[in-house]
Amino acid sequence: MARNPRYDILFEPVRIGPLTARNRFYQVPHCTGMGYDLPHSVSRMREVKAEGGWAVVNTEYNSLHWSSEDAPYRLCAMWDENDIRLQSLTAEKIHRHGALAGTELWHGGNHSPNRFSRETPISPSGSTQHAVFPLQTRAMDREDIRNLRRWQVQAAKRAMQAGFDIVYCYAGHGYLPFQFITKRWNQRTDEYGGPIENRARLLKEMIEETKEAIGHKCAVAVRLAVDELIGPAGVTAENEGREVIDYLAELPDLWDVNISYVENDSMSARFGEEGHQEKYIGFVKKLTSKPVVSVGRFTSPDTMVSMIKRGVCDFIGAARPSIADPWLPRKIDEGREEDIRECIGCNICRAHNNQGVPIRCTQNPTMGEEYRRDWHPEIVTPKRGFANDQVLVVGGGPAGLECAMILGKRGYQVALADAGRELGGRINRESRLPGLGTWGRVRDYRLGQIAKLPNVEIFLESRMDKDTILEAGYRHVILATGAAWRRDGIGHNVYFPLPGLDAANVLTPDDVMSGKQPSGSIVVYDDDQFYMAGALAERFRAAGHDVTLVTPGLDVSSWTLFTDEQFKVQTKLMKMGVNLVLAHRLEAWHGDAAAVACIYTGASRRVAGETLVTVTARQADDGLYRSLKEDAAAREAADIVTLRPIGDCDAPGAIVHATYAGHRAAREFGETIDPDQFPFKRELVFVK
Ligand code: ADP
Ligand code: SF4
Repeated sequence: MARNPRYDILFEPVRIGPLTARNRFYQVPHCTGMGYDLPHSVSRMREVKAEGGWAVVNTEYNSLHWSSEDAPYRLCAMWDENDIRLQSLTAEKIHRHGALAGTELWHGGNHSPNRFSRETPISPSGSTQHAVFPLQTRAMDREDIRNLRRWQVQAAKRAMQAGFDIVYCYAGHGYLPFQFITKRWNQRTDEYGGPIENRARLLKEMIEETKEAIGHKCAVAVRLAVDELIGPAGVTAENEGREVIDYLAELPDLWDVNISYVENDSMSARFGEEGHQEKYIGFVKKLTSKPVVSVGRFTSPDTMVSMIKRGVCDFIGAARPSIADPWLPRKIDEGREEDIRECIGCNICRAHNNQGVPIRCTQNPTMGEEYRRDWHPEIVTPKRGFANDQVLVVGGGPAGLECAMILGKRGYQVALADAGRELGGRINRESRLPGLGTWGRVRDYRLGQIAKLPNVEIFLESRMDKDTILEAGYRHVILATGAAWRRDGIGHNVYFPLPGLDAANVLTPDDVMSGKQPSGSIVVYDDDQFYMAGALAERFRAAGHDVTLVTPGLDVSSWTLFTDEQFKVQTKLMKMGVNLVLAHRLEAWHGDAAAVACIYTGASRRVAGETLVTVTARQADDGLYRSLKEDAAAREAADIVTLRPIGDCDAPGAIVHATYAGHRAAREFGETIDPDQFPFKRELVFVK
């Protein structure tokens, strides 16, 4: 198909210093949880994006010297010759598809506890670490500053040698050059402290010296956080953010501007709309003639066009949209906008990097598997084994939808049966919770793709039981029947059923999401500690209920720490007037009060309420699977040769686990899988 002329502007080439980008799609640097530990994995992942049409593909943060490293989180490094070899893999793969390769040279200053290198951390004035850590930083003297400048230049030269086209001076996300800019961390009295020209001096020198060293061949980009969203205590778009851009306007070849810190820059959909950064970065283009990149979880080509036409930016920057759909630009170019797998803003990608493991994505199950499992986000192996057989997928939630879609794309005949009137499973319920509307995209993308596959037949209002499956005549049955929230209190902190939970005024999230209205004051008990209880508490409070949230966690929705949302969730609930009882586990429900006990002392107390909503563990809906599994004779008589549970029915989890399980089952269907063979390529360092 041809590209819609409305989007032509997105495919105009743009000059960046000595180079030209083929279009306006710019994959900004983003963490991967792979870095130098997994060079083949990370380079292949970047390659797939270049193939998908991005004009610029950047690496993640790339330590310019070992006095700044971030172990156990994974990063790239430009420390010596070995790194040149390692990273040339990435540059070469990006070039293979006509994209420019960029790299973000990084020094974290007081964001680098140096747990691996054990170097003394440095910062402009000596301060605590950004995160609580029992080692402070040394105030940099002039020699330290000279060293830093030299290290930046050395690393830039190595980056050029590795084949990179764009090299960053990185003053975003609170890192070292930024620490000089903000008064909070720069209390120096020499020529690097005081007026903004002094505080921006280091960044200026780094840009000038990097350009001098590699500017004949490479473009030099600057990433700057123009607002920290903490008001006058920090940098704002009204003061230093603007002043730095004004002062250095024409110096770099490109401005990559954003807001700090990562939780604001990568704001989840729960807290920020597409394009939410515009109000902060909108001024930048007025102050410089250099190309400007900005991000904002852009997935709509019309919004992108509007950003360019209104003069907000020259490039559409993207991290998460390029993770959810590495082929986003190519799809727009080919007039296939409806095929875009839109990021839902769930921040599961962030959560995995934040745990020091390779990123994965709710929408794109191939993320992180491009090399080690040879999974491509758009290309699947055509059907091989069982090529003439039909497959029955029972359950049309995220697991069943993904599985049916990929089986269909592989060319299999698929029947997708669901008990409900519409497909989507848990997505239909959860996307109606406050702030989670974008999650509906998990269902919508898959329904859109399945609609194009004549070989996938859908059967709604078709509850399957053992007999109907045995009679249906399918040789292959994949069960994606989901899970239900438990009613007995069992969860992370409670191991046996609790008394009183069978009362009529005790509800589970399933009850609430299927329309049961809790009455009066509500106690929400959260032993799940992800998003569900916080979202329900928000909904109840917004409807005027008196709400008390009780959790064994030490803070609200503890696991959202990893999705960079915890602080925002707790702030919101506290501002709404939700009462919090932290570090307490449920012991019983007395009809008008919950008995709860302190997790440390065991001391009991009562929390009064007219309704109790328990958000605990979930129970796999695996009865159907087990009844078939246990009846080998019946299966044999019905000629069923494949039986596989996937998603929540196999082990209840987050949506990311369900889409992954569905994808994997579909990829593995008809293939020879040896359970005794390790299932993917490992990147091992061998001892000679
Ligand atoms: P997952 O996250 O694993 O995809 P969901 O709970 O979202 O699980 O979806 C499960 C789907 O399975 C729901 O749409 C539900 O209606 C459907 N389902 C459950 N049991 C049956 C059954 N016996 N027959 C047909 N559909 C079923
Ligand atoms: Fe977007 Fe969620 Fe995928 Fe991250 S994990 S790219 S936020 S859909």
